[in-house]
Amino acid sequence: EEEEKNSTVMKENVAFQSPSKNWKNPENCESGGSRILVFVRLRPMAKKEKEAGSRSCVKIVNRKDVYLTEFASETDYLRLKRLRGRHFCFDAAFSDSTTQQEVYATTTAELVEGVLQGRNGSVFCYGATGAGKTYTMLGTVENPGVMVLAIKDLFFQKSGKGSYDGNHLVHLSYLEVYNETVRDLLSPGRPLVLREDKQGIVAAGLTQYRAYSTDEVMSLLQQGNQNRTTEPTRANETSSRSHAILQVTELQFVFREKLLTEVGKLSLIDLAGSERALATDQRSQRSIEGANINRSLLALSSCINALVEGKKHIPYRNSKLTQLLKDSLGGPCNTVMIANISPCNLSFGETQNTLHWADRAKEIKTKGYVINDEAFQVPDSTTDQAKLVLELQKEN
Ligand code: ADP
Ligand code: MG
Repeated sequence: EEEEKNSTVMKENVAFQSPSKNWKNPENCESGGSRILVFVRLRPMAKKEKEAGSRSCVKIVNRKDVYLTEFASETDYLRLKRLRGRHFCFDAAFSDSTTQQEVYATTTAELVEGVLQGRNGSVFCYGATGAGKTYTMLGTVENPGVMVLAIKDLFFQKSGKGSYDGNHLVHLSYLEVYNETVRDLLSPGRPLVLREDKQGIVAAGLTQYRAYSTDEVMSLLQQGNQNRTTEPTRANETSSRSHAILQVTELQFVFREKLLTEVGKLSLIDLAGSERALATDQRSQRSIEGANINRSLLALSSCINALVEGKKHIPYRNSKLTQLLKDSLGGPCNTVMIANISPCNLSFGETQNTLHWADRAKEIKTKGYVINDEAFQVPDSTTDQAKLVLELQKEN
């Protein structure tokens, strides 16, 4: 009897809301196209945060379940007899000890294979400033990120030597969208104009950098990243409002008809910080508009909503970013989203917001190839969830 009582208490203590209906119903994801694959990556707690007494409010289990808990004070806890928390389930969730290589292998390696077979692919990272987007995409010299590993893979898979082999070429372009202005990050200068051609929407005059080896790629991209717009008040710091888009095109020499043909294109996108832009309710939406916050991110969330709701008209034209991502979101392209989150309890709201949008993105279908959807299974019992939350509390 005692045991039964205990388990009831546990259930009462945790009020997990039900995750999106979509993953409970795999049928929603089948037929006609593929779903966007959605991954979550938790960054480690920074030393500074630890020293300031921050606690972790996120726990990742089974490599795909994310539990988010808001810690109430002890008195609140006793009064309310419950914790506020949520459970989410993704294609994969990376804990703070996951390596760059593992993240690349799980999220992007298959897209690179696809590019070599002529299919376009795109990966975009989103989340609040400081959540780990640039680390995931670009990384460091010691721990290169998805952008560098993808290019390396393209080289190695084709030539086996990690360099240009005479029959294949890799072209890179790296651009920024800041304040609805598009700029070339490899060759900074005047803003670029977007133009529609038969391949879709392109930035006119964008430098196509021909890469011959992987060694030069990291420094090239680092240089490009330094060209990203900095906020006047925060010199040396990349603006949290700039989106960076790397496009890698695999070209092949074909001697029959044309000399050079495009094989496939991979787009890797480091989005601006989502903290102020992707609000989930109407009230904050208004204050955002008043404050003239990142139009491109707002437009992105509108497009995601329209795509999920199956609307006929998708408002791509509302921003530069959504024009550039049109192919990736609704066109023939295999798309991956990596949502970056911080473990810090002070970022609870931002993390919840990011997970909310990531959860919603699971419902977007693209015109890619069909994937199987076994990743989303019914979660553990409420009691198991409660145990996890208690575990997380102990860890802190
Ligand atoms: P964002 O681009 O989202 O604003 P960053 O990628 O710049 O965030 O990450 C913020 C800080 O956290 C950086 O100092 C970065 O090196 C560090 N960081 C982020 N993710 C990781 C990780 N997975 N492992 C180690 N350090 C990380
Ligand atoms: Mg960044």
